[in-house]
Amino acid sequence: MRLRHKPWAREEMERNSHIVISEPENWLGKWQQLFGNDHPIFVEVGTGKGQFLTGMGKVHPNINFIGIEKYESVLVTAMERVREAEIENVKFINGDVEDLLSFFEENELSRLFINFTDPWPKNRHEKRRLTFHDFLERYEKVLKSDGEIHFKTDNQGLFEYSLHSFSKYGMTLNQISLDLHNSDIEGNIMTEYEEKFKAKNMRIYRCEAVFQN
Ligand code: SAM
Repeated sequence: MRLRHKPWAREEMERNSHIVISEPENWLGKWQQLFGNDHPIFVEVGTGKGQFLTGMGKVHPNINFIGIEKYESVLVTAMERVREAEIENVKFINGDVEDLLSFFEENELSRLFINFTDPWPKNRHEKRRLTFHDFLERYEKVLKSDGEIHFKTDNQGLFEYSLHSFSKYGMTLNQISLDLHNSDIEGNIMTEYEEKFKAKNMRIYRCEAVFQN
């Protein structure tokens, strides 16, 4: 993703601290309190410009959504989207997925979305892939026992790697599609990357993975 420096982004996010939560560590174990309800919490890691979560938030008002994005210049667009949509069930954390355990308590989340994450194709960068073993360990802790990971990518190499990583970890794989947009999977909300790939007629890979108890 091309990053444009936006010196005003931080100030904008501070002004909208009801959407971009400024000290997320303070809400560890208490996110439902923040949302003011007991609805399940779904998190998207590497949320980008927030198209997916804004769409999901509108369609699923009884779910609380949180997006984690490390670049404020990207996240500020997601924040604007949620503000314009006037929805209250989507919040963001400006932070790194590596710090997931400082944001969420064990068993706090019901679902994790990993959408079009950077593939890091070089072997020496394997540890940076968001489906690498160390990340799965973190996901397992924060997810409830029946919690799911929903994964989408355009990158065949990353998809194959991730299927292998999930199953090596002992996870069960469901709803695998090698061509999401020509499958019978319903209710798909497109991310901004997905829309670009679809316009180029590229194939989208998808699966769901569940930790075994
Ligand atoms: N999910 C969006 C989509 O599908 O359109 C954005 C995809 S973009 C390729 C990947 C995003 O993940 C980038 O915005 C990047 O900054 C973010 N990201 C990558 N690694 C991250 C990490 N460890 N913590 C937080 N965000 C991360």
